[in-house]
Order: sequence, then structure tokens, then C-alpha cells
Amino acid sequence: MSKRARDEEDEDQVQPVVSQPQHIECTIPPCHSEPKSFSSYEEYETHILSFHNHICNECRRRFPSEKFLHLHIDENHNPFVKIEQEKGAKVFKCFNYGDGCSKVCSTPKKRRLHMIDKHGYPRSFRFDVVNRGI
Ligand SMILES: [Zn+2]
Ligand SMILES: [Zn+2]
Ligand SMILES: [Zn+2]
Repeated sequence: MSKRARDEEDEDQVQPVVSQPQHIECTIPPCHSEPKSFSSYEEYETHILSFHNHICNECRRRFPSEKFLHLHIDENHNPFVKIEQEKGAKVFKCFNYGDGCSKVCSTPKKRRLHMIDKHGYPRSFRFDVVNRGI
């Protein structure tokens, strides 16, 4: 019965992984400075729906705050901003624009660095949230 013994061994090795507690953190602004922790995906989803529920009428994507929704519309659906951008103007506003910062960047890459350097955003932050929503 050597086969059965091996099967039981395999089961023993798998067990510890299952017993680990799972926590989901909300790192979406304005929560990112003090991440809220959720014990289930349902709780997290409820939080998203009540705190970060800003929908774009054009593409139906959801954004974490009014500010991100405005940035999204400007950068994705505003033809005037597109024209400015093509002319080489800086159009990528700091996520804290109007909140004590008036930085506007020429590329999303530069804005990413600005958010990390000046506003302490985590490097893992999904900066493309402005385009793709959450
Ligand atoms: Zn949150
Ligand atoms: Zn949109
Ligand atoms: Zn800034």
C-alpha cells in the first residue's frame, strides 16, 4: 500500500497554506494613506461600491473618487485636452491637483514619479487607474 501512504503525505503538505488568514487592503486614494483592511472580498466590494463609486458616462468604468473621474474624462474623452496634448502641452495633472498642488506633467510616467516622490504614493499603486478605472 505504498501508493496510499504517498497520497496522505501530499495532503499533509498542502494544509498549512489553506489556514492562512486572508486580508484585502484598500489602497485606493483617499484610503491609501491609512489602508483599510477587509476580511472578505464581499466586504471590500461593498466598500468600493459605497466609497469609490464614480462612473464615467462615456465608457462605464468606475473610479475611486470624483477627482479621478474628472482626470479620466479630461485625459480620455476630452477632445480639447487631446489637441493640447498633441501640441506638446502638459496635460497630466497631479492626482492632488487643486489640493495644494498645481503640478501638471507632460507624460503619465513623470506624473507617476511625482506622485511617488512628492505625495508618498506606493510604487505598487496602479497609476493606470486614470485610464482603466478600478
Ligand atoms: Zn477605500
Ligand atoms: Zn470614460
Ligand atoms: Zn502634486
